[in-house]
Amino acid sequence: MKEDILHNLTIINNRIKTACERSGRNLNDVKLLLATKTVSADRIKIALENGHTLIAENKVQELKEKYDDLKDIPHDNHFIGHLQTNKIKDILKYDVTCLQSLDRLDLAEKLHQKLLAENRTIDVLIQVNTSNEESKFGVDPSKAVELTRKISGFSTLKIKGLMTIGLFSAETQKVRVCFKILRNLQQEILHEHIPHVEMKELSMGMSGDLETAIEEGATIVRVGTAVFGARIYPDSYYWNEDKTNTKA
Ligand SMILES: *Cc1c(COP(=O)(O)O)cnc(C)c1O
Repeated sequence: MKEDILHNLTIINNRIKTACERSGRNLNDVKLLLATKTVSADRIKIALENGHTLIAENKVQELKEKYDDLKDIPHDNHFIGHLQTNKIKDILKYDVTCLQSLDRLDLAEKLHQKLLAENRTIDVLIQVNTSNEESKFGVDPSKAVELTRKISGFSTLKIKGLMTIGLFSAETQKVRVCFKILRNLQQEILHEHIPHVEMKELSMGMSGDLETAIEEGATIVRVGTAVFGARIYPDSYYWNEDKTNTKA
């Protein structure tokens, strides 16, 4: 099991390197984030002990369950799942350093209140729904600039960039469109010169489409399956939790 994970990490690093070379990008500008949903703490540890220190969970429950087992190994914990406002206290308690899935004003507002009370700040990425799929979370691209502007008013939320989940499709062109939308939004927001807003990070690309994402400017690729193997739950379990049957 250890050999498998290390072998897979080598393959992923090579894929990232090749994609960077092909698109004229600097390897140092692309970070590998390990998406650890359903992965046991023991297996995550193997990656952490071998120099891969950026991980992310989708659910607060899993963050909580693995916290004690991982807390003594230096690493950086992001959150990439849909966050309900009643779980805000948990992501702060369990040391999440970046919320990549900030997609609505009420969440930003409540998070800000909680951070103010604790005299802390947190990094955030604005999640954008670039695939126009009802099942995915994220702000509509047409509302992303406005949401960014509003969230920039909350002094405890350090906006570092944008995040998206691309379309699931074997057609690279269609997936690429999603990543282009995110990069264009980044440029648009930069152009607005909103005070306190950094737009350095583009978190996009996963096991199946990281090359396309890197070609389109990704600075963080989020990889799960290609490192830890297939999951037993379908992704809809993580991405749809309270969106099922909401289609108008
Ligand atoms: C699970 C997940 C990933 C990783 O997906 P893989 O296809 O397993 O690489 C990336 N981003 C988010 C938001 C995820 O939930």
